[in-house]
Amino acid sequence: MSTSLSGARRARELAELASGREVDLLVVGLGVTGAGVALDAAARGLRVAALDAHDLGFGTSRWSSKLVHGGLRYLAAGHLGLAYECAAERHILLRRTAPHLVSALPFVLPLTPLVSPARTALSRVGFAAADALRAVAGTPAAALPRARRIGAAEVLRLLPAVRRAGLRGGLVQWDGQLVDDVRLVVALARTAAGRGARILTRCRVEAVDGGTVAVLDTLTASRHAIRARAVVNATGVWAQHLDPTVRLRPSRGTHLVLRAEALGHPAAALVVPVPGERNRFVFAVPQPDGLVYLGLTDEAADGPVPDVPEPTTAEIRFLLETLNATLGAALTDADVVGAFAGLRPLLASRAGGSGGSGGSAGADGSAGAAGADGSAGAAGADGSAGRAVRTADLSRRHLVHTSAAGITTVVGGKLTTYRRMARDAVDAAVAHAGLPAAACRTAWLPLVGAAPASVLARVPAPARLVARYGAEAPAVLALAQGDPELLVPIADGTEVTGAELLWAVRHEGALDVDDLLDRRTRIGLRPVDRARALAAARDVFTRQEP
Ligand SMILES: Cc1cc2nc3c(=O)[nH]c(=O)nc-3n(C[C@H](O)[C@H](O)[C@H](O)COP(=O)(O)OP(=O)(O)OC[C@H]3O[C@@H](n4cnc5c(N)ncnc54)[C@H](O)[C@@H]3O)c2cc1C
Repeated sequence: MSTSLSGARRARELAELASGREVDLLVVGLGVTGAGVALDAAARGLRVAALDAHDLGFGTSRWSSKLVHGGLRYLAAGHLGLAYECAAERHILLRRTAPHLVSALPFVLPLTPLVSPARTALSRVGFAAADALRAVAGTPAAALPRARRIGAAEVLRLLPAVRRAGLRGGLVQWDGQLVDDVRLVVALARTAAGRGARILTRCRVEAVDGGTVAVLDTLTASRHAIRARAVVNATGVWAQHLDPTVRLRPSRGTHLVLRAEALGHPAAALVVPVPGERNRFVFAVPQPDGLVYLGLTDEAADGPVPDVPEPTTAEIRFLLETLNATLGAALTDADVVGAFAGLRPLLASRAGGSGGSGGSAGADGSAGAAGADGSAGAAGADGSAGRAVRTADLSRRHLVHTSAAGITTVVGGKLTTYRRMARDAVDAAVAHAGLPAAACRTAWLPLVGAAPASVLARVPAPARLVARYGAEAPAVLALAQGDPELLVPIADGTEVTGAELLWAVRHEGALDVDDLLDRRTRIGLRPVDRARALAAARDVFTRQEP
């Protein structure tokens, strides 16, 4: 079946479901978790529908730091199992399922007067342990080089903006970086579609009643009842709407968007310790298309969950001030070309749902994974800076829980570990509903565009396109045949071409200019560039299919 998503396919498949065709498993939410669940279930031979109220990657998944972590911070906190899980999932993404979307990035901790000799020694121990984990996970040093100490000249070559005075050298460590988080979500959704999953955006799930799911098509304002044997709730910070027994304590993480020239075009991520904190850092991470994301904060975000979270002025101040302590020349507000914030779906306590037949299990299979944080989450509920427990200390594990109403919720975790979350959720839903499903096979299932590194290196297309579309890059270029204008950047300040926008409409399910500018491309992260690109994005929808 085709992996292409389009408005026409959406309308056809929604009509089929609305007319009474039953699916085995319906997934609510198309962030990285829900898209991963859709792929996992479809690859096991189940009939799948996956719905999102907005768009692919509309929620937290698009506001991440775009890193595929090896679990260093979990090692530092003594969570060996979780750290190994991250390293193993990083290996799968980097080497098998999405080598086109994930690359190795050096992270450099400059040894400035801010970094004491004791902290230097501690960091070296942590990096050595992360190296060992990399090796155990099977990732060769050729793919992710070993951590090492470098001299001051090398630090300045990689990070030209770092202050020279008092620089004793640096520690460099390597980790995985996604070209963009939404690219991963789109690739998952399309790979699932290729295995027959119906991927339906602009479909809000309003209620689940036994085997009937009430859906609002927000494009037409029409309501439908869809029949499903099992339902998986993968709605992230909105999970409580469908299962009120799940208790979350969201935390906001903010990033600033800088032009790479403001930092002298860094060739590595800059790691800056947060003063007064033992295990907290701010990162300035170079991105494709001449940008750097500076992040991140960790603030309790209690109260109603907004569709699009907003960074606060205090967070912007904190990030700039922390960065500036390590730079030769301080950056100012004028260097900030954009800012974005996302809400981490952190678990506050174990789901209640004692009547549920599916029970609950943590990421590592231990029922206590989420529950261990339960009392802590409750204690810190006031959200104040001086609270007893900060969101940074809450669990990053995931919870899979089947409620008395038969809805399997999967929440928490990380983008890096989406595949395990999906596997655990499908296992639980299959067991609960007695579905005839094969075993999980996503660890060996390449996503659309994936190919071994040696093949990707020979794809006849610009490297920038290969990093975003992998082996499909020549097909993106081919859309410009007869219209070379489509290969020109659509506006000043971006390298995105008309061909990419057209590809998004014809193959990636983009339905309007917001889908194009804010998710299929990330031009929307810089408001000035977004305004310039708007006309070109509108124009794409007026083009006829050949
Ligand atoms: C600032 C920040 C930085 C992060 N950085 C990293 C990182 O670098 N690496 C990493 O591994 N992890 C990172 N994470 C964690 C990671 O981003 C999240 O764990 C992950 O994206 C959560 O994905 P999700 O699919 O569970 O939720 P979401 O992406 O929020 O998806 C939920 C979806 O459900 C939809 N929805 C909600 N209600 C309904 C409904 N009623 N009907 C239909 N659809 C509905 C929403 O529209 C949304 O698209 C970061 C998180 C934050 C906040």
